[in-house]
Amino acid sequence: MSELVGDAGTPMRILIAEDDAVSRRLLQAAVERLGHECSVAADGEQAWELWRAARPQVLISDWMMPGIDGVELCRRVRRATGPYCYVILLTALGDRDHVLAGMQAGADDYLRKPLDHDELRARLVAGSRVTALHGRLVEREHELELLNDRLRVESRRDQLTQLGNRLRLHEDLEVLHANAHRYGHGFSIGLCDLDRFKAYNDRYGHIAGDEVLRAVAASLKRHCRRTDGLYRYGGEEILVVLPEQKLETAALALERRSQEVAELEIEHTDNSPFCVVTLSAGVAAYDPELDGTPDALLRRADAALYGAKAAGRNVVLTHEGAVARMV
Ligand code: GH3
Ligand code: MG
Ligand code: MG
Ligand code: MG
Repeated sequence: MSELVGDAGTPMRILIAEDDAVSRRLLQAAVERLGHECSVAADGEQAWELWRAARPQVLISDWMMPGIDGVELCRRVRRATGPYCYVILLTALGDRDHVLAGMQAGADDYLRKPLDHDELRARLVAGSRVTALHGRLVEREHELELLNDRLRVESRRDQLTQLGNRLRLHEDLEVLHANAHRYGHGFSIGLCDLDRFKAYNDRYGHIAGDEVLRAVAASLKRHCRRTDGLYRYGGEEILVVLPEQKLETAALALERRSQEVAELEIEHTDNSPFCVVTLSAGVAAYDPELDGTPDALLRRADAALYGAKAAGRNVVLTHEGAVARMV
């Protein structure tokens, strides 16, 4: 706990709200003698203005003041967001009954009039401790939020390819599907699958296979539109989501992506007749008549992919059976 004691010695910004000029000056002198930075207000209104402008760490407020009284000031301070302000209410002997009401309004402590210097000092030690603790809590909260954000992103990213993973795909597809359903924003998907990748691993090894997956993912990422979505769908399968794209334009985009992959010219002896790494893709466009769920659309893309493999590989096929070819 030694660091807390250390905090107690830190100078603080303190606002004094006191309508009695003599008490005010005495209190100000005492606070400043303890090494704190002090501002003063002669009534509640002025105190509220000053408090909002300077956001002091501690407010020492008289109970009875013209306009806004100490309790109302307390309530306002507590309603405000931002760093914690430690509130000490000043109570004359006759105000004792009001102490509980003041604490309930949000005061942290009270200080009896006439002023006792040791009591003031003790109250400020507590104030410094509480505000420091609150500050640390806010910091931790902020760190936790950042960590949560990072976790949210990381848990939706595939570690090998840095593309979205199935969880991310599932969430994004639900949104796209709902928007397509409600607002008629169509979209297409392209399910890509590396050709004869088992044979690649068998010949070149799994580490080299992983490198290929990374290179293909990077190529797709480089060339796809910013608004397109890229996800690792399965082992050597990557799903491209193309918002606002119709079947024909999506198929052409996928055809270009497949050519770019072939142009990487990654040797793959067993992928005859191409002898480089290639991919095949099945493309399907959202159809409100057919796609009650995103799964139905995925099934059609998968069927088209199956057709592309049967058609010889290094082929992009739509779910309508059209082969995409560049003109
Ligand atoms: P096809 O052209 O019909 O797609 O043939 P294929 O060999 O690619 O298909 P198959 O489904 O038989 O094999 C897929 C291979 O992908 C098997 C597996 O070793 C490989 N694979 C899947 N995930 C990974 C991965 O993360 N790293 C590596 N290196 N290989 C993977
Ligand atoms: Mg007063
Ligand atoms: Mg596969
Ligand atoms: Mg494959």
